[in-house]
Amino acid sequence: MNILLVGPIASGKGTQAQKLIEKYNLAHLEMGGLLRSITKEESPLGYKVKDFLDNGKLVTDEIVVEIVENYLQSIGKLDGILFDGFPRILSQAKFFEDFLRRKDLKIDIVLSLTLPKEEILSRILNRRTCEKCGKIYNVVTKPPKVEGVCDDCGGKLVTRSDETPEKTATRIAWFEKEVIPMINYYKEKGMVEEVDGNRPVEVIFEDIVSRLQKRGLINA
Ligand SMILES: [Zn+2]
Repeated sequence: MNILLVGPIASGKGTQAQKLIEKYNLAHLEMGGLLRSITKEESPLGYKVKDFLDNGKLVTDEIVVEIVENYLQSIGKLDGILFDGFPRILSQAKFFEDFLRRKDLKIDIVLSLTLPKEEILSRILNRRTCEKCGKIYNVVTKPPKVEGVCDDCGGKLVTRSDETPEKTATRIAWFEKEVIPMINYYKEKGMVEEVDGNRPVEVIFEDIVSRLQKRGLINA
């Protein structure tokens, strides 16, 4: 079972991804994380990717394919792959489809987490991140025990510099302009299950599981 999980920022995508890979023994292909770990490698690919990221450029499709190829070789025997937010734009999706076909692979289902714009904004504006360990809090729905202090490590909780209202609005606009057309492309192929992300984590997960069942991807 190969799943593509998409959703705007603050949609709880990461949490659902974690639950899916644990429950169904899936490889977790998350491009952001893969790129970051590759930049730490002392290899030609590592230097190349680092150069792109340091200059704020998007890595090319060729590099992405090389990364995915390496990753697929490294994962060993698992029951499927969770594509976490990748591909994320239409051109990438089409390019990637051909690549997967050559490997005898395909995406079986696209789970699209949805969240109203106002909810995205309020989640981001209420978000605080631990400077030390990266744990994420929400001052309204998931506050720390002591204001401004991480429960786990005692680190200071801060608002990340890319989580201002302006930057958040830009990211939402980007999602609408670039990602929605890709989701529509998959919709035309009948691959998309839209999942309301404005509910508690467990309720969302149960909903996702029922969609997987409905499509015969897992046993009831
Ligand atoms: Zn912490």
